Amino acid sequence: MIKKITCIECPKGCLLSIDIENCRVVKVSGNECPKGEKYAVQEMENPMRIFTSAVLAEGLSLKMVPVRTDKPIPKGMLAAAMEEAKKIRLKSPVKSGSVIVEGFLGLGVNLFATHSAP
Ligand code: SF4
Repeated sequence: MIKKITCIECPKGCLLSIDIENCRVVKVSGNECPKGEKYAVQEMENPMRIFTSAVLAEGLSLKMVPVRTDKPIPKGMLAAAMEEAKKIRLKSPVKSGSVIVEGFLGLGVNLFATHSAP
């Protein structure tokens, strides 16, 4: 099976042709640099996404504080990440960039605030 996706690793946006057999990438073409092949394999075999959301705050200047992970997590974990984020209640002031949860979901990523809430 051939799948076509656009590489988003740089503004050039190469159209990648990905030959997939038994759920594994066997050939990538259309990429103008090695990053494209790496992106294609990652996207087909283990897609990752930065998780972004907002968590509840109590007694702070914002009712919801926007957050995101500092690294991508497996796409299949986004729903679990959302459920975990719903449980968080911020009760102390935070600055933009403050880590809210270290080792979020045991995935080796941190969840941090993207907005200050004094
Ligand atoms: S394959 Fe390389 S040159 Fe093409 S969009 Fe991806 S990163 Fe850019």
